[in-house]
Amino acid sequence: MILNNPYFPPELKRLIQSLGQLPGIGPKTARRLAFYIMEMPVEQSRVLAQTIENVKEKLKPCPLCAFPVETNQCPFCSNHRRHPEQICIVEKAQDIINIENTGIYQGHYHSLGGLISPLDGIDLASLRYRELLLRLEQNHFQEAIIALNPTTEGEATSLTLSMELKQRGLRTMRISLGLPMGTEIEFADALTLSRALSGRVEL
Ligand SMILES: [Zn+2]
Repeated sequence: MILNNPYFPPELKRLIQSLGQLPGIGPKTARRLAFYIMEMPVEQSRVLAQTIENVKEKLKPCPLCAFPVETNQCPFCSNHRRHPEQICIVEKAQDIINIENTGIYQGHYHSLGGLISPLDGIDLASLRYRELLLRLEQNHFQEAIIALNPTTEGEATSLTLSMELKQRGLRTMRISLGLPMGTEIEFADALTLSRALSGRVEL
């Protein structure tokens, strides 16, 4: 509707379209943000554009856990004081921060970069699973804590992953207590998440 509006200049439509592609931004919010950007002081908009460009140019995922870094290794993988026997597997890099914020986990992390979704043709091999196997070969992890969202895809991924990891001799745990069905780790508060971590159960 908004994009078909003949009164909007093409550049403004393009901005609305770009903003509307962001997660959680519907057409109305995209329009509101586009007008806000259009009306902000030019210097502020330059800083915004430059910041976005810098993030894209300077940041890359840590080759091990996928947490965004400017250098070669992230603060988690390069910290030798972290427990070398534990690895916590999450769906996306920002989940690492939430688990870290609970303050009760001291092991290593690995982001899969997604979840298994048979309908979309996504299996373990489409995720960062090869990278995980490589890390298991090169390290002495004994316990894998699977911290995936309790959704259908999250459950399917947890089960497949735990079977695969058990075959490789790992003790496989999953976070459990405190996370209601449908809750996203990204939005869980620290207390709920720390209870879920403490109450992890063997898979
Ligand atoms: Zn890392």
